[in-house]
Amino acid sequence: MNPVKAKLGPEVEALARELLAVSEFLYNHPEIAYQEYKACEFLSRFLTERGFVVEQGIGGVKTAFLARPAGRRTERPTIALLAEYDALPGVGHGCGHNLIAAASLGAAVALGRHLDSLTGGLAVVGTPAEEGGGGKILLAEAGVFVGMDAAMMFHPGRLNLPGEEMIGRIKFKVEFFGQAAHASVSPDRGVNALDAMVAAYNNINALRQALRPDARVHGIITHGGDAPNIIPEYTAGMFYVRAASREYMNEVFGQVKKCIEGAALATGTRFEIEVGQPTFDPIKRNPPLEEAVRPNMEALGITVDRDDGRRGSSDIGNLSYFLPAVHPSLAIVNPEVPGHSQTFAEATMSPRGREILLKAAKLLAMTAYDYLTSAELRERMLEAFHQKE
Ligand SMILES: [Zn+2]
Ligand SMILES: [Zn+2]
Repeated sequence: MNPVKAKLGPEVEALARELLAVSEFLYNHPEIAYQEYKACEFLSRFLTERGFVVEQGIGGVKTAFLARPAGRRTERPTIALLAEYDALPGVGHGCGHNLIAAASLGAAVALGRHLDSLTGGLAVVGTPAEEGGGGKILLAEAGVFVGMDAAMMFHPGRLNLPGEEMIGRIKFKVEFFGQAAHASVSPDRGVNALDAMVAAYNNINALRQALRPDARVHGIITHGGDAPNIIPEYTAGMFYVRAASREYMNEVFGQVKKCIEGAALATGTRFEIEVGQPTFDPIKRNPPLEEAVRPNMEALGITVDRDDGRRGSSDIGNLSYFLPAVHPSLAIVNPEVPGHSQTFAEATMSPRGREILLKAAKLLAMTAYDYLTSAELRERMLEAFHQKE
């Protein structure tokens, strides 16, 4: 291994206590989407104290930040290390974003010390509100990533994968409007909005059988009526449509709308659909970048798992259309443990979680090093990025 690259691991190791403290601080102060004030402050201070210039509130998002090594502001290529730090309502860091932030900071500090011997730059982008808020989308649309050439982060999970598949997601609200009436005295004068919702729900269930395996439709009824003796005049629900390509996601959304329309027609109700923000894009994977991650995982003693086909969605999907991006997963729990759970949150502080935090920081630093030192890798990445979906 190149002598500079070989130093990155021991340097992360030397930062171990500080990085574990970052993860622990976030764990003990969980803040949900767009409320990550303490996290933003803590991470900014950590980087400032280690030679970075930090700007908070970038892209119009108060709890976002951008950090660059002092004196090296505009070099190309620039690799962005993404730090997520939002928690979930109820289960704190049940998605393990405390480890994500700590690993990206560790990689940035370790690699930052060697920039003088390299061409190019690095940036840490603090990206709030991955959970439901789509912070990366706001930052990307505001131009925060202009002048950056690739982005990477790791996510703790159930499997070891050099790159994670992410499906797209549209979320929407559906409302049915009918006519209230006494449910016993004059049901014939009513128009039942709950029947419309139930019919729509069942139509969607029937549609599910005809969907490709990558698509998901799931939803809840958020308002089902007001009293059993009133024919419900208003009902509302929230649904998600997901699929592995933008094209198929929109196609399925069109089919789901037909399910709703059919239910309205059958029941004589009126309906409205309101698409909520954000819409997540499926990730545009970058095979050369993932292939650069893989040998570094193996060098760190991490065995790459087989993808088990379980899929989520993330705002890194949208970002992957702005610049080449990679989202490796490193296991901190056994495959049967669900994410977004208390057990997963606790696993971030377990011996295994702590070990993975350091390995993730090394993995990011090593891969960022490969990126900055290989013009050939960058070229192949760009070619893959510009290829049509
Ligand atoms: Zn999550
Ligand atoms: Zn997450």
